[in-house]
Amino acid sequence: GVAGMAVTDSEALAALHRVFGYETFRGEQEAVVDHVIAGGDAVVLMPTGGGKSLCYQIPALVRPGTGVVVSPLIALMQDQVDALRALGVRAGFMNSTQDFDERRTVEAEFLAGELDLLYLAPERLRLAGSLDLLSRGKISVFAIDEAHCVSQWGHDFRPDYLTLSVLGERWPDVPRIALTATATDTTHREITERLGMPDARHFVASFDRPNIQYRIVPKADPRKQLLAFLREEHAGDAGIVYCLSRNSVEKTAEFLSKNGVEAVPYHAGLDAGTRQAHQARFLREEGLVVVATIAFGMGIDKPDVRFVAHLDLPKSVEGYYQETGRAGRDGLPSTAWMAYGLNDVIQQRKLIQSGEGDEAFRRRAGRHLDSMLALCETVRCRRGQLLAYFGQEPSGENCGNCDTCLAPPETWDGTVAAQKVLSTVVRLQRERGQKFGAVQIVDILLGRRTAKVIQFDHDQLSVFGIGEELSEAQWRGVIRQLLAQGLLAVEGDYGTLVLTEASGSVLRREREVPLRKEPEKPASVKGTGSR
Ligand code: ADP
Ligand code: ZN
Repeated sequence: GVAGMAVTDSEALAALHRVFGYETFRGEQEAVVDHVIAGGDAVVLMPTGGGKSLCYQIPALVRPGTGVVVSPLIALMQDQVDALRALGVRAGFMNSTQDFDERRTVEAEFLAGELDLLYLAPERLRLAGSLDLLSRGKISVFAIDEAHCVSQWGHDFRPDYLTLSVLGERWPDVPRIALTATATDTTHREITERLGMPDARHFVASFDRPNIQYRIVPKADPRKQLLAFLREEHAGDAGIVYCLSRNSVEKTAEFLSKNGVEAVPYHAGLDAGTRQAHQARFLREEGLVVVATIAFGMGIDKPDVRFVAHLDLPKSVEGYYQETGRAGRDGLPSTAWMAYGLNDVIQQRKLIQSGEGDEAFRRRAGRHLDSMLALCETVRCRRGQLLAYFGQEPSGENCGNCDTCLAPPETWDGTVAAQKVLSTVVRLQRERGQKFGAVQIVDILLGRRTAKVIQFDHDQLSVFGIGEELSEAQWRGVIRQLLAQGLLAVEGDYGTLVLTEASGSVLRREREVPLRKEPEKPASVKGTGSR
């Protein structure tokens, strides 16, 4: 009844004040908390830093019994539990890092009703013993954190998450709350279906992160560009630099250290001790830079990360959003900076083609990449494009805090340039039965008699030297944009260029090809357009 709600309300607010010392709930928190305390299921989509934890911690404190939190972040459980205990919350965890005695202690506390919160690794729930244990205690709420791990299409997929539907079957009366910072419709649907939560109420917070400035610059000499960016805008700041490979993680960390930026590497090839030490330093110190593969970051709660830099292209917009979302959780101005170039496109396309997975998987991965490329190549507001990807309305045409809003890129009519590139590809294939990569195509266009051009007699082609009006960097930009627009494709392990179905319309002059103008010398400075 109405009176009952009021009591619940004040209990939740009292717990917020008493335990966490916060004045008020943020955004959707209050609605979520009320709904779950009243016994309803909930799917909560909130950006990183939005305050998901309280959405299940408060119900766990208010409802009788123990709140069981399923989380894949085993490495963080000890810290999470310690932090809660420091606030006076009776919390414990169970995962593979514990010895027998530690686990027995937690089990006993749970059975005696002495725990407010119990964190569990998902693989525990595969064990009959764990389910039996849970049956013998009293559970207030199930929280499924990082719920997007149930999605086979995401890069965080955990097979153990597929077994979590058992919770609803065995405990139909215990409310469940699934939480994630990943928000596309597909992921959303998968969470609801696979966790078996058809009646859950959905709470979707705005995904806008207004304090993050989004910038994507053309890649020339990425490490130098990064260094300039750090020196000019983020000297002494903590931040994360993402690279695709372990090797480039190592090299970049070394390069930064040599150049006076304190940086440490983090990737799955380092031993657990080193990884943990680097992570701990990052959390503790003020101005450390972590250079990492995407293995780093999930669940890391460091409020003052001032920048996230990408030296390689993320595989999807979701990945980009998650990774950049680790910047500026404290709400202060932060930068999401990325260097992006032709090789990124070729490399990612090759990865998809030669990678594992069936045809459907490849198609899907290709679509994800296309959306990411569209974000890179857009001449419109990047924030608007990001929000639109997540199905949300931007608040205006221009956000005023991304590079394309700060310095609107110019476009030019690239139709003739596109025809020249495509003709060269056609000539090689039709006249010679050959396929080549971007480097050779550009050398031919520029009329360069390189060893490889001579070797293949490519100076005899009618297209040899027809592109002297543009520079090498500009031609690479043209090819990159043609790849991004689907007017050119990459084939095989060597990244050779081939035509697509859409190429014909350009060659037949049936369509125009507007292209984004490339800066002569890629700028690493703030996008103010003053050059
Ligand atoms: P998420 O899990 O969504 O990334 P967290 O739950 O870790 O976010 O919360 C992010 C930060 O915001 C934490 O430092 C948390 O203490 C703080 N926070 C969350 N809710 C509130 C609130 N209602 N008032 C003040 N601070 C809050
Ligand atoms: Zn903008």
